[in-house]
Amino acid sequence: MNEVIRSALLEAGADIVGFADVKGILKPEIAHLTKAISIGVSRNLNENTVSLLAALKRKAVEMLKARGYKYLSIPADSDRIKNSFIAKLYPLFPHKMAATCAGLGWIGKNGLLISPEYGPRLSLATVLTDAPLKPGKPYTKSLCRSCSLCVEYCPSGAITGSTWSTNDPYIELVKLQNCKDHKQGSRAVNGKPNCGLCINICPYGRKHIIKKGSRGRMTRTSC
Ligand code: SF4
Ligand code: SF4
Repeated sequence: MNEVIRSALLEAGADIVGFADVKGILKPEIAHLTKAISIGVSRNLNENTVSLLAALKRKAVEMLKARGYKYLSIPADSDRIKNSFIAKLYPLFPHKMAATCAGLGWIGKNGLLISPEYGPRLSLATVLTDAPLKPGKPYTKSLCRSCSLCVEYCPSGAITGSTWSTNDPYIELVKLQNCKDHKQGSRAVNGKPNCGLCINICPYGRKHIIKKGSRGRMTRTSC
């Protein structure tokens, strides 16, 4: 079933699709859903990307539903809309955790999912399910190694330089307040809370940089 779902999602516009075993790491309300489909598109998380990811999730859900499996579709922008109905209903599952568990990448020093192919330039969505999907091989540690470009170039000193691994999933990688303050300062000057240097500087996935862009921040991220 993996390949049928993967092909359908890639054909519908996904850039990368992975499958994760999330047994034992979900909150009790959703613990019966032991697998996750992690869907990535190499684009900024803007309105159009959220619509594309929503369409991709609908496609995955249709396929699961047609086969009689349970599912829970996690909104692409769940990190940003903690007051949404679904976020109030369930403690939502971080997309980055699904992606590391599915073997799509690791959590970089910049706190973002780093895909070997797309670097930190993926926007993610997740569908949880009880379907018997075959999981990918999870990433359990960072492959940033000696690189510290994002640490050096971050203008707010937000990136601590710590290294992620599944043994230390809550380690502070990014001082979120520093980052937020810097972006607010940028809003005052440019009218937009922009930065993204920690994305642009990352050597992974640079071949996709011309076409596409950014996302995310840090939550628990290990499987
Ligand atoms: S967005 Fe800018 S300020 Fe925030 S962590 Fe990245 S480089 Fe630093
Ligand atoms: S810039 Fe270097 S240290 Fe930062 S996330 Fe990318 S690979 Fe890791």
